[in-house]
Amino acid sequence: MKVSFPHMGNMFIPINALLKGIHVDVVVPPPVTARTLELGVKYSPECACLPLKINVGNFIEAMEMGADTIVMAGGWGPCRFGYYAQVEREILRDLGYCFDMVVLEAPDSKLSELLKQVKGIGENATLKEAYQAIKFAWFKLGEVEMLEKRLEYLLPRVIDQNQIEQIYEAGVRGIDKAEDRSSVRMVRLDTIKHMDSLARHQRSILKIGLIGEIYTILEPSTNCHVARCLGRIGAEVSRSIYISDWVNDHLVGGLIKPSNHRQILRSSRPYLNYHVGGHGRETVGNAVEFARSGYDGIIQIGPLTCMPEIVAQSVLGRVSETEAIPCMTIYFDEHSAPAGVYTRLEAFIDMLQRKKSLANMASG
Ligand code: SF4
Repeated sequence: MKVSFPHMGNMFIPINALLKGIHVDVVVPPPVTARTLELGVKYSPECACLPLKINVGNFIEAMEMGADTIVMAGGWGPCRFGYYAQVEREILRDLGYCFDMVVLEAPDSKLSELLKQVKGIGENATLKEAYQAIKFAWFKLGEVEMLEKRLEYLLPRVIDQNQIEQIYEAGVRGIDKAEDRSSVRMVRLDTIKHMDSLARHQRSILKIGLIGEIYTILEPSTNCHVARCLGRIGAEVSRSIYISDWVNDHLVGGLIKPSNHRQILRSSRPYLNYHVGGHGRETVGNAVEFARSGYDGIIQIGPLTCMPEIVAQSVLGRVSETEAIPCMTIYFDEHSAPAGVYTRLEAFIDMLQRKKSLANMASG
């Protein structure tokens, strides 16, 4: 059995560790490229959302590398994610691929359920091994996210932005390869030390909250690398969600680490008081939270035609007015081009910088 899975940012690192820990042969799909998207677009329904098309491209590329089993997340609710796995399976079967698909459903906040599902994928894995594999995968995820957050903080501040990106990429590769906790920790500490040692600008930094659909936030190839672009033009980006938050809040009911999910839903309440699928309500709640935490602006991103994000967008104008924070929305599909996105980001940041300078002048 050779198991593969879809890409979503750095999630391949903990999944790789998890599957290896339960004695599974893993095929990590190649990083998302123009070819991945081309394959997905060619074989998926035109109106399907971008993440589904990228998943299909990932699976085809993984099967070209010998994968014969695909692990995919299940879902429910009023948006299309709930039947992604089924649609993807039918597309690939129609293309003649022969494979098994394992759909992992959200385990209803029960760790034991998650454990059983993971053990079920493994070949001869014991429950103890499944438990240890989950723990090691979670640990790696936490360490990778420390690197991601350090890069988001430092990118707008350092002078040599190419170098910090290279150090970060090497650190991510190092964590993926490390086989025990102390090696993982060592890579993370060395990488952060190296990143921190770079020379910095003395310039004022804008703070931007990045909100929207989870896949678009977490997989940079779907958003023309918005966070990196913003960092390079002098803005520090905080994402509204990291993979560990999603696992903690949606898979295990907030059992693994403290969660601010309830607070986010409370903040959304005056503007949007019901579940609209995906992360629509969280998008609104996070916009409010960023506004109240002194951020200079908010950028909402999502796949074109994403229903929950369209609902959230219709409310964000009121959030922007009431909470006094500028907000911009960008949708992405296979026709999005980096130059166009970059121009919009630059214009938004330019506007925020002028606003901030005027406010500073007015306050003396
Ligand atoms: S959240 Fe948006 S992108 Fe994701 S499945 Fe639902 S509609 Fe599609």
